[in-house]
Amino acid sequence: MAELTANELAGVEKLIVATETVVREALDVARRSTDGGRGIDDAQVHCERLAYAATEVAAVKALLAYTQSAAAHEHKDPAVDEMAGIFAAEVALRLAAQVDAHADAFGLTDDRVNQTLGAPEIKALARAFSSAARVQAIGRHVIEQRGVNHCWIVEDMAVMSRDSVRQFAEAEVMPIAARLHQHDELIPEPLIAKMAELGYFGMSVPEEFGGGGMGNLVMIITTEELSRASLAAAGSLITRPEILTKALLKGGTAAQKTKWLPRMASGEVMVGISVTEPDIGSDVASVACRADAGEVGGKKGYLINGAKAWCTFAGRADVLALLARTDPDMKKGARGLSLFIVEKDPFTGHNFEMRQPTGGVLAGKADATPGYRGMHSYTLTFDNYFVPAENLVGEESGLGKGFYLQMQGFAGGRLQTGGRATGLAQAALERTAEYANDRKQFGQPIGSFQLTQYKLGRMATHVMAARQLTYAAARTMDTDESIALEPAMAKLFASDVAVWVTQEGQLVHGGWGYAEEFAISRYVVDALVLTIFEGVKPILELKVIARNLLGT
Ligand SMILES: Cc1cc2nc3c(=O)[nH]c(=O)nc-3n(C[C@H](O)[C@H](O)[C@H](O)COP(=O)(O)OP(=O)(O)OC[C@H]3O[C@@H](n4cnc5c(N)ncnc54)[C@H](O)[C@@H]3O)c2cc1C
Repeated sequence: MAELTANELAGVEKLIVATETVVREALDVARRSTDGGRGIDDAQVHCERLAYAATEVAAVKALLAYTQSAAAHEHKDPAVDEMAGIFAAEVALRLAAQVDAHADAFGLTDDRVNQTLGAPEIKALARAFSSAARVQAIGRHVIEQRGVNHCWIVEDMAVMSRDSVRQFAEAEVMPIAARLHQHDELIPEPLIAKMAELGYFGMSVPEEFGGGGMGNLVMIITTEELSRASLAAAGSLITRPEILTKALLKGGTAAQKTKWLPRMASGEVMVGISVTEPDIGSDVASVACRADAGEVGGKKGYLINGAKAWCTFAGRADVLALLARTDPDMKKGARGLSLFIVEKDPFTGHNFEMRQPTGGVLAGKADATPGYRGMHSYTLTFDNYFVPAENLVGEESGLGKGFYLQMQGFAGGRLQTGGRATGLAQAALERTAEYANDRKQFGQPIGSFQLTQYKLGRMATHVMAARQLTYAAARTMDTDESIALEPAMAKLFASDVAVWVTQEGQLVHGGWGYAEEFAISRYVVDALVLTIFEGVKPILELKVIARNLLGT
């Protein structure tokens, strides 16, 4: 593939600058009209649009930064340079159409639009970079390479991790992924044991607490490679300890960190996260499950009563990170919630009941789902279930801080989901590129048709943008664990990419894409969950991304 000229590369930058300028100025307008984000609910549709546009700008900037860094390290990749141009044009054209259609809401004058996205030079660049021929050339390259991801990474440790996890995932996870999905089986214990041995559960646990202390980027790349083999049977297994790790590091007492982090890092303790309730989902501040202070058998602690929903891996888990209401005054909202480490026995079935000698009961029933199988997600009922006082995260000083700690954990979970979604989309890209090579119609491989090449070109471009946005968020989180915006953007964008890429891949597979025998049919149903959990897409856009962007 021919390299972009210096002039063309400068053109990509100009496109991005024009797009970013429009988003920045539109955000300024919205910041004023929503009173620093306080009035988002009076302008939800526009705020969602802005949140998405800002996320796409972040993705295209991450892609450009990658190409520039690769070139500076003598790892220039002409295909990714092209992708940066193609994606920059796509984002610019989409935003230009939106500004045109919703001019009042965007609040930019005609003159300002004509100086930016409407400038003749910018329009010409967008047309040039979005030409079908360019996208098809990427598609041909991807088909030839069978979609394999060899993207350059500056950090040696991350490259080594990618190679070793890929080898592990291909040997241990890929061969069992279809069976687990088709028979709705639980992840086998030997696989958990092998992952534990390799340190996958403690990647971002600091070394002083028995973890690898490898940071977020290595953790993300590990997640990506495991998810490429199976989202549910491996890729999602390390999300739960990651969420609780981040919450404990932020708000746990020294004794709690010393007790729980090493056991989580070693895989001795498997974790479930229990926030959602049957009637409370996005409105987390209204969680109703109660934790009332009490004494059982001479031991001080809390009695848990209420229902929880969608608690993934709750059967097999040894502990649940449970968000519960410790202050009965509902007016306290989020300030009345606390986070608990609820100990339980592990169970392997779709239903379980745990009876404490002191009379408490925890019952679980797995809800059947079309995909994301391997861990099972349970509806839970707590009846006077006793949790000792030392299991309240932060102990006395953690009372009322559960919401805040949970959100800290979710930021890490969302970053993880960026990696999970990228890995799943990558798997779909590879299967589709292989199929485009192997399947013949009208006397030729379907990959030789222009439209197939075009589809694969766009798929690969989006997967690479999702990857670079997620890596960029991981690197930022490595320097500041408190960030919320970047992981949310990575989760939003990469999840959408996974949904779209798996469905495009299914179309390229034709009827066989609907057959369980072909992995792409599993990828499609697995991907659908990504935009739902850890903040369903509209809530992520409005309550996390728009709020962060518009807050003053
Ligand atoms: C397979 C699976 C696994 C899961 N695993 C876990 C887990 O391990 N632990 C856990 O705690 N949870 C888990 N969840 C739950 C998940 O996090 C919730 O489903 C999600 O947060 C959304 O909550 P909800 O389903 O109650 O949707 P709701 O909150 O009812 O929202 C439904 C829709 O209503 C609209 N809406 C709601 N509020 C607003 C608003 N303010 N403004 C605009 N629109 C709005 C949006 O369109 C939204 O998509 C899982 C879910 C699934 C499906």
